[in-house]
Amino acid sequence: MAVKVIAHTHIVEQPETIIGTPFGDRKDWGDSSETSDLDLLAETAGRECYKAYELKNPNTKENKGYINNILDHGHFSVLEHATVTFHVRHVSRALLLELERHRHASFSVESQRYVNTRVHHPKPVIPPAFRTSELSTIAESLEKHYEKSLDLYDKAYLAARDTGLTVKESREAARSFLLESTPVDFYYSGNIRAMRDMLGKRWSTHADAEIREFAGMILGELKELAPNSFQDIESTPSDL
Ligand SMILES: Cc1cc2nc3c(=O)[nH]c(=O)nc-3n(C[C@H](O)[C@H](O)[C@H](O)COP(=O)(O)OP(=O)(O)OC[C@H]3O[C@@H](n4cnc5c(N)ncnc54)[C@H](O)[C@@H]3O)c2cc1C
Repeated sequence: MAVKVIAHTHIVEQPETIIGTPFGDRKDWGDSSETSDLDLLAETAGRECYKAYELKNPNTKENKGYINNILDHGHFSVLEHATVTFHVRHVSRALLLELERHRHASFSVESQRYVNTRVHHPKPVIPPAFRTSELSTIAESLEKHYEKSLDLYDKAYLAARDTGLTVKESREAARSFLLESTPVDFYYSGNIRAMRDMLGKRWSTHADAEIREFAGMILGELKELAPNSFQDIESTPSDL
């Protein structure tokens, strides 16, 4: 499994309504700012709601405290402005099915109708439970089973092509022989609120082990990119 941040929101200009205000003069806006643009954008959007640029409340005068208050009050729309795009590789089709249930995210997924699975994904995704030494023989069986599924996939594809079906028609039919452990690569984008919501459900001991592993990797990246927006999410999965 590989998860890599490819793009994220960047503030290009300080809004003119805050120039010269205590908020606008805060060090966060300078070149040496330690506050991430994703966290700062959430605060900037939130402060617009009440034109609250004076920083009168000591608990919320810095970005971390401000966002903490936003999270406490459920004022989540301010977390919808900043987005992140991940390139995700070598996760199972089973994981993708679960992740795509999160309707506020965006996906661009390699197509099994066009892409040759044998060439691009010669090995299956081994579920975390089978990665232990006690179950290594099960993992080996899965690899063999996967290899057989690829043989059937190749055979079905060639038979379909022989009847005159196109490459796309042949692959889309032949993929019926592939397993749920077949890997898939895709781009996954979402705003901070959507990412938090996904983590609330998948960074959990109740979630499937592979998507939980995925959620942990996503959380690690997001805590680097926007630490204040994820300050309340623990680095161990929730058991709620
Ligand atoms: C441990 C676990 C087990 C699961 N088991 C199953 C299963 O056996 N079968 C199965 O089908 N699914 C299962 N799911 C998937 C689950 O039902 C959800 O589809 C998935 O977690 C996506 O979350 P979500 O629907 O809350 O919303 P998202 O699409 O992530 O949306 C986020 C939030 O937006 C709001 N929202 C979005 N769309 C609507 C809408 N149409 N109407 C009202 N509010 C909306 C809701 O507040 C929602 O919580 C499971 C999920 C988990 C975490």
